[in-house]
Amino acid sequence: MKRALLFLFIFLTITCNAQASALPENKAVFQLGNDKYILNEKEQIMDTIPFISNGRVFIPVRYLAHVCGIEDNNISWDPGTQKVTLNLDHKYLQLKVGSKQLFENGQTAEMDAAPVIISDRVFLPARWVAEAYNYKVEWTQTSKAVIIYPQGDIKPSAPEKPAVLLVNKTHPLPAAYAPGTLEDFNGYQISKSIKDPLQALFMAAGKQSINLIVNSGYRDAERQKQIFDQRVSELGLQAAKAAVALPGFSEHQTGLAVDIVDDSNNYSWLKVNSWRYGFIQRYPEGSEDITGYSYEPWHFRYVGIPTASFMHANNMQTLEEFFYTYIGE
Ligand SMILES: [Zn+2]
Repeated sequence: MKRALLFLFIFLTITCNAQASALPENKAVFQLGNDKYILNEKEQIMDTIPFISNGRVFIPVRYLAHVCGIEDNNISWDPGTQKVTLNLDHKYLQLKVGSKQLFENGQTAEMDAAPVIISDRVFLPARWVAEAYNYKVEWTQTSKAVIIYPQGDIKPSAPEKPAVLLVNKTHPLPAAYAPGTLEDFNGYQISKSIKDPLQALFMAAGKQSINLIVNSGYRDAERQKQIFDQRVSELGLQAAKAAVALPGFSEHQTGLAVDIVDDSNNYSWLKVNSWRYGFIQRYPEGSEDITGYSYEPWHFRYVGIPTASFMHANNMQTLEEFFYTYIGE
């Protein structure tokens, strides 16, 4: 009799757990332009970035599905029909690239955004999918983050700052900005976070017999002011403004930008290949009206490989275009 009760107890426990597994239980925070996200308080990494389009946040299908509790074997993609199917216990969801129709257990709903493909990655409108699996979805403007968590549960916290740092004539550095740990690179200071990628870029160039050196890296506000004042005395105020940033408005103060001397003297290899290492030519020729700066073939900004690849795939020449299109104002 005791034994029978024990079996009954185990049976009930298993059945209850099986039912409970269908309920939302994950907590996730995705940030626009950030290839890292937080899943149940642990940092995870993606091979691309979430972005916003027409006010809707898009997340790569695989990661969004994982957050909803759907494993790889329950995600299917049909390249022929361009349909993604997600399956979780009682909930079956189907979305089609370019279509606003959402099929949910045989019912059709109309979404206000359609899934997209960007360089072989399928992105889904986050809110529609997460809400279909009964998650609560919230947006935080200060950090440009989407928070996905079970209804009635404690909301996970979002990062304090946006992931993408845009510094230009209309976007000064945040008042409390600190460049973090700086390291030496051939006699110039740069952010520690870009040292390995810069080394990789220089080594790849070296294999093509292109020798690169850095001739400017991190500058503090005081150094930036000296450079600006010197240019004013040489060129006058107007010309100086087109060539040099005012203190507080220079990418060099981030520690994420470097000026590079290219001994092949045309920067053509760098222009074409730097994105593979996470760098972009920041002030390209023909984009002067967008960046606010004269063509500077030598100035490169580190944005990380996922963002640089995303920009490359979308043919985005400037960080401004990328930022205003995919990150928001
Ligand atoms: Zn520069």
